[in-house]
Amino acid sequence: HGDFSQKIDYVFKIVLIGDSAVGKSQLLARFSRNEFSLDSKATIGVEFQTKTMVIDHKNVKAQIWDTAGQERYRAVTSAYYRGAVGAMLVYDISKRQSFDHIARWLEELRGHADNNIVIMLIGNKSDLDSQREVSTDDAKEFAEREGLFFMETSALEATNVELAFLTILTEIYRTVS
Ligand code: GDP
Ligand code: MG
Repeated sequence: HGDFSQKIDYVFKIVLIGDSAVGKSQLLARFSRNEFSLDSKATIGVEFQTKTMVIDHKNVKAQIWDTAGQERYRAVTSAYYRGAVGAMLVYDISKRQSFDHIARWLEELRGHADNNIVIMLIGNKSDLDSQREVSTDDAKEFAEREGLFFMETSALEATNVELAFLTILTEIYRTVS
């Protein structure tokens, strides 16, 4: 089950941020354990999950931190951001407000994190296309303006989740190698 007693070449800390209920914990559950729950209570306890992937023949361990319910503005502590080389800024494509708040999450992130942190904007719940309140073009434009990578995902349908993490890990790998 993925244990090759392999040597780990890199450990990359990635933080998940964004409003409550956008699907951060389910994205992490999908990526790290291939699990999903429709009834996910506010995350308690677990600080991070890990998953090792092979990038450029190197074993890269992603250590992904989840906010555990500290999603109020300014409630996420600087310890959360410390040492992070990547960040996923998550909103819900069916909830305009969660996208409107991205600018302040980005401001907070830039205030706390390392200057060359790799940031990816994630529009989650792409399966809820019939209830969409944020167009793909709007998000793309915002991402381009701010220099962020961008992808729409569905933790429920497992769409683009692995690809999103692989993309951010590959970009981080390129900046450090
Ligand atoms: P968090 O507060 O950002 O960690 O959000 P959660 O991961 O706890 O998810 C909040 C709610 O949205 C839960 O009911 C999830 O089942 C649901 N959810 C998460 N991801 C998706 C998704 O991709 N599609 C749909 N339809 N629901 C999702
Ligand atoms: Mg959560």
